[in-house]
Amino acid sequence: MNTPTSRRLRDLVYETFASEGRAPSVAELARRTSSGVDDVRRQLHDLADAHALVLNRDGDAIRMAHPFTSAPMAFVVTPVDGHDDRRWWGGCAWDSFGISAALGLEVRIETACPECGATISFAAGPTTPPPAELVVRFPRPAAEWWDDVVATCTMIRLFCTREHAESWGAERAPDTGYLEPATTVWSLAKPWYGDRLAADFTPHTREHNQALLDERGLVGEFWRLP
Ligand SMILES: [Zn+2]
Ligand SMILES: [Zn+2]
Repeated sequence: MNTPTSRRLRDLVYETFASEGRAPSVAELARRTSSGVDDVRRQLHDLADAHALVLNRDGDAIRMAHPFTSAPMAFVVTPVDGHDDRRWWGGCAWDSFGISAALGLEVRIETACPECGATISFAAGPTTPPPAELVVRFPRPAAEWWDDVVATCTMIRLFCTREHAESWGAERAPDTGYLEPATTVWSLAKPWYGDRLAADFTPHTREHNQALLDERGLVGEFWRLP
């Protein structure tokens, strides 16, 4: 986001996700910024290098702009207001809360428990926490999140109970992972993602985000940001 064009591109990506639930194409971004397609592609790569967004494997389309994602990832986020017909894929449990936080919107979040397959559907919003019994499992330490951030988000799942999260982890990944109540992740999503759509958004520093984790008791090696 070092140039006005790159800032404009980033903002257009977020605006399109927020209003239409999809990522804009490279051609669309070129038209809307009166830029060349190659220039847009180059700037998107720079934004991806800065973790401002995530490109697909071929580097020619936007895959994620946290908390938004352009492809299904186990979570569907729907406005509670039935007159609002927008829909979003939630990149993970944390991102699903993040969409509500970024939009300042009461939403319904739907997913399935990875252990038992039961549908989990609940309302959450800026002042509405998720049900207390729900648990989020983080698959890998914070230092490794961006090694493959799509894979990381894919595995940050919501379980219907702590027991189901524990039995799922014990069977598939017994030596790693961290369980946290969904209410904690919800409270983290507000300051982490709440300003993503703000006109004056500036990327958080590492220290800022580390403090957000610390304040919620997410401390120790697992939660140390790179
Ligand atoms: Zn379950
Ligand atoms: Zn995520």
